[in-house]
Amino acid sequence: MRKRLIWAIPLIGIAFFYACQEKGKFKIWESGPTKVGIQPFGKVGEDEIDSVKTAIERFYDFEVVVLDRIDLPKMAYTEIRYPRYRADSLVRYISDHVPDSVDMVIGLTNKDISVTKYQDAAKTKIKDPEWQYRDFGIFGLGRVGGDACVVSTYRLHGNASTKQYYKRLVRISCHEVGHVLGLHHCPEKKCLMNDANETISTIDKSSGELCQKCWKKIH
Ligand SMILES: [Zn+2]
Ligand SMILES: [Zn+2]
Repeated sequence: MRKRLIWAIPLIGIAFFYACQEKGKFKIWESGPTKVGIQPFGKVGEDEIDSVKTAIERFYDFEVVVLDRIDLPKMAYTEIRYPRYRADSLVRYISDHVPDSVDMVIGLTNKDISVTKYQDAAKTKIKDPEWQYRDFGIFGLGRVGGDACVVSTYRLHGNASTKQYYKRLVRISCHEVGHVLGLHHCPEKKCLMNDANETISTIDKSSGELCQKCWKKIH
């Protein structure tokens, strides 16, 4: 019995150490309340900005401020397939301009945004068919554990009612903020952090909430 206990104590210690390490990766443990800035780009609507602001305040219990509207940076513009803006360049731009007054910034645009999709994590080969994935339109992009993300309203309209359009917008915004907080994609189908997998219907079918596992990681 005593021998078993001797073994158990360091094992519990190791488990506890890793649990703490895991939690340490998430931004929410940093001191003070998290403050989020919304960066409106170009002509994105006031109603869209207000909805995202309220959603992030309620969903994460963060302080949210709206920054001064600016034009989309020319450095992110592309004509690879269509005239639009590269999401990764936008995230980099936003990250380079995070004001000292906030912890992270979410960019909002009504223009189409895109990324290159790869087959592998090392990004050595573009996903097949290459013509489609070299410059692929997306809803939003967030850097895991970074300080910036971007959301586009461009692909959210479809046949959606106004109510459904705003539901999509706030879900994607909270999803991208989740990435910034350190959350990766979650295999749980109904979880807000589930990968949209290139279709808006994944977002419509989501519960709009974080699953227990994801929730625990940031609380
Ligand atoms: Zn995602
Ligand atoms: Zn989850």
